[in-house]
Amino acid sequence: MSHGCMSAMEPMTRAGALKSLADFLPKVATYQGERSYVRDGHPNVSGLSAALRFRLILEDEVVAQTLARYTLGNAEKWLQEVCWRRYWKGWLEQRPGVWTGWRERVGALRETLSPERAARAEAVAAGQSGVACMDAIARELVETGYLHNHARMWWASFWIHAERLPWELGADFFFRYLLDADSASNTLSWRWVAGLQTPGKTYLVRLSNVEKYGAGYLAGREEGRLRLADGAMAAAPVEESAEVGRTAVAEYPAELADGGGRVGLWLHSDDLLGEVGPLAALSVVAVAAGLSDGVDQKIYRLSERRRAVQRAAVGDGLERAAAHFGCGAAALAGDDLVAEMGDWAAREKLAEVVGFAPMVGPLGDLRPRLEAVLRRQGVRLRLVRRASDAVAFSFAGAGFFPFWQKMSRHLSQPHPL
Ligand SMILES: Cc1cc2nc3c(=O)[nH]c(=O)nc-3n(C[C@H](O)[C@H](O)[C@H](O)COP(=O)(O)OP(=O)(O)OC[C@H]3O[C@@H](n4cnc5c(N)ncnc54)[C@H](O)[C@@H]3O)c2cc1C
Repeated sequence: MSHGCMSAMEPMTRAGALKSLADFLPKVATYQGERSYVRDGHPNVSGLSAALRFRLILEDEVVAQTLARYTLGNAEKWLQEVCWRRYWKGWLEQRPGVWTGWRERVGALRETLSPERAARAEAVAAGQSGVACMDAIARELVETGYLHNHARMWWASFWIHAERLPWELGADFFFRYLLDADSASNTLSWRWVAGLQTPGKTYLVRLSNVEKYGAGYLAGREEGRLRLADGAMAAAPVEESAEVGRTAVAEYPAELADGGGRVGLWLHSDDLLGEVGPLAALSVVAVAAGLSDGVDQKIYRLSERRRAVQRAAVGDGLERAAAHFGCGAAALAGDDLVAEMGDWAAREKLAEVVGFAPMVGPLGDLRPRLEAVLRRQGVRLRLVRRASDAVAFSFAGAGFFPFWQKMSRHLSQPHPL
């Protein structure tokens, strides 16, 4: 499968994301019937996921532009998918232990997996499983950083249920290579395929389904395909490694008043749209963002391509913010983002740092240390959450369909970004 849509997004910019959305909107009319097919170049899906993940563009903007052109009923499947992302985000915000539990298991499995299983996992991820159509998917991921949703489902299912490899390590492979890699969408989709997310529901890849929707992967790649034959595979027994506790979503204000003193803006890769929404009207004297800090490389082992895309997206966010706030922007490129933020705050003589609340995931994990380091320097950290995120997250307590019932009613009403 060659890959067309993301290349239009590189380098990652807001202008590119808005153009991709405008180009895709006419195709929303046929999205429902077309979406599930994996077509060469992926013309039937938007390729917007990395831009949405870094928030070069907001889900709310996608929704608003869609509803300016279609009725909710005519665009329902498309709007549902855009909102799945928010559903997963909100679900994880209420269960941060699922994120930390996954990371701990990845670390533990790297130490404890038998050499034979570890070698098999490596071979499957390298596209050397012997099931040629699945191997094509693994190679596409490494080469392009993008996979169609159906290919993600098939391959995750193959890894878990045919190869009987730990889902946590498969999710880690995706997390390292996907350009849209996201703490919520990735972890929770893998859990869904494994049968953990919706108890009693496991996703099993079937050859007839790949033949119908992904014939391109099979063309000239017959080897090993019978391992996927309908009925050939049984669900692997997968258990929770820790109890999934539910907590209240952390609360943040939806807007901030000017606090007085010198204010710096912390821009980060969970939301690179500083100039749109609750921070836009503040008087900011300096902006800073971590380009692709050492944590991404050393702890998460993100691929070079993924980190390059993040650097490009952050660079675009910084440039827009500097122009909007009329101040200097610092791209922090070192290994320790928190220490660098402390140095930046001192250099800029800041009284406070403001920013979007980071989500559960790598940045959420950094927040307590950042807060402590700034506090020691006498600098206050004030974080906001977009009002529409707070609303969407509050709907995400249980399954997707109750979420969608509330969300679709909410979408029809105008609301601030
Ligand atoms: C095992 C697995 C892992 C995944 N990991 C990620 C990930 O790390 N990051 C990520 O953004 N998505 C992930 N997804 C969801 C989905 O596959 C991608 O969002 C989608 O394929 C991106 O392509 P697109 O932008 O062309 O999608 P489109 O079909 O054009 O959809 C538009 C937008 O809706 C959202 N969306 C669509 N489908 C889903 C979905 N099933 N779940 C959540 N959001 C969705 C995305 O933001 C996407 O950009 C994963 C799915 C699976 C099965």
